[in-house]
Amino acid sequence: MEHFDVLIVGAGHGGAQAAIQLRQEKFEGSIALVGDEPWLPYDRPSMSKDYLSGAKTFDRLALRSATAWTERDILLRPGVRVVAVDPVERRATTDAGDVLSYGRMIWAAGAAPRGLTCAGCDLEGVHVLRGREDVDGLLAGLDTVRDIVVIGGGYIGLEAAAALIKMGKRVTVVEARERLLARTSGEIVARTFETTHRSMGVNFRFSLSVAELRGRDGRVSAVVLSNDEVLRADRVVVGIGVTPAVQPLLDAGADGDDGVLVDEFCRTSLDGVFAIGDCARHVNPFAGVDPIRLECVQNAHDQAQTATRYICGRPAPYVAAPWFWSNQYDLRLQSVGLALGYDAAVVRGDADSASYSVVYLRKGRVIALDCVNSVKDYVQGRALVVGRAVISEAALADASTPLKALQSAVAEAVIEG
Ligand SMILES: Cc1cc2nc3c(=O)[nH]c(=O)nc-3n(C[C@H](O)[C@H](O)[C@H](O)COP(=O)(O)OP(=O)(O)OC[C@H]3O[C@@H](n4cnc5c(N)ncnc54)[C@H](O)[C@@H]3O)c2cc1C
Repeated sequence: MEHFDVLIVGAGHGGAQAAIQLRQEKFEGSIALVGDEPWLPYDRPSMSKDYLSGAKTFDRLALRSATAWTERDILLRPGVRVVAVDPVERRATTDAGDVLSYGRMIWAAGAAPRGLTCAGCDLEGVHVLRGREDVDGLLAGLDTVRDIVVIGGGYIGLEAAAALIKMGKRVTVVEARERLLARTSGEIVARTFETTHRSMGVNFRFSLSVAELRGRDGRVSAVVLSNDEVLRADRVVVGIGVTPAVQPLLDAGADGDDGVLVDEFCRTSLDGVFAIGDCARHVNPFAGVDPIRLECVQNAHDQAQTATRYICGRPAPYVAAPWFWSNQYDLRLQSVGLALGYDAAVVRGDADSASYSVVYLRKGRVIALDCVNSVKDYVQGRALVVGRAVISEAALADASTPLKALQSAVAEAVIEG
């Protein structure tokens, strides 16, 4: 039986970063990075952006070169899925029946896209977007396709819509809520994205769900909505959220539900087992008392650092401010903090222009920032979110005052508690 001092399960953003970080922390033990995709770790956000649009080929998306892994003595095992964990014997079983023993395990298995469950959901031509194989499946034969229906008006659905409309397809986005990005962003930003998409030719249907998919010869041909409207569809792209990939850990007795629960050092309730990234449910200082999961690269990286520092005997609790980006057409959104439960949203600049930002406040404190083509506000405003600055709405709304000039308020806010 092979033994690894650290066995990392999942070779995506979190797992790859954890392996690299362990070496940076001068960890000298053996490291295996086991992932069920058949490729070297690659950039996932590009799947719905540059890879889907064809702007970048897959070989430009590797997180590190093949030699970078061998140079660091990190053993990569692509195409291997861990199906069971024995936390008492500290062993993991793979889908090939191999048993790997470990000293510590870092579970970084991410999440699987949720599919539709309605009639017709298993017809050909219905796609999710998570990994390279999903995108390759969508791209195959796309030349002959005219009508595409995207289910879900979140970031992945919208990024897909942007790439597909630029290819000359007729794209309709169906969203169950009354507006776009309802789960993640404020209304002002959502309006900007909707207006831009409409100007590019994307159609929308709001407050409607999918009743059924219809097909011809086993391939999807139409989407029937909850109001009985029938949309022609040569392809359907489903972007309705994810299910965390944690079943083997839950089966092994780990605490969790919709993810695996971790503490501030990313430790699960199983001895010697850490969890990071999309699958880790944690208490985030920027989100209140209830544990949450974050689905962004930065969180996967920060949690990788938290787990590896703990393993290397230099524990430091996870406190990073969440940040996220999305690119669609010429819109570059950068967000910091979590725009949850805000009671004021202050616009800096003109929300109808190509560049502005929104500052979200709760009880007078800055809790989040959305910056649309406004890198300066993003860079300068981070400190306000991190420090939960208390700043008047009037001062924030004055776009002629750089956010940097308001940073002195942070120190006062921290002192006030
Ligand atoms: C299309 C798309 C666009 C995105 N765009 C952005 C963006 O613009 N900005 C941003 O910040 N975030 C973006 N995200 C989110 C970001 O990619 C994720 O938050 C990030 O990849 C999480 O890293 P992770 O390591 O937790 O999971 P992943 O990167 O998903 O890696 C998990 C890996 O584990 C593998 N795995 C699962 N189960 C097992 C098992 N049992 N055994 C072995 N391997 C297993 C998976 O196949 C996968 O390869 C995007 C995500 C998608 C899907």
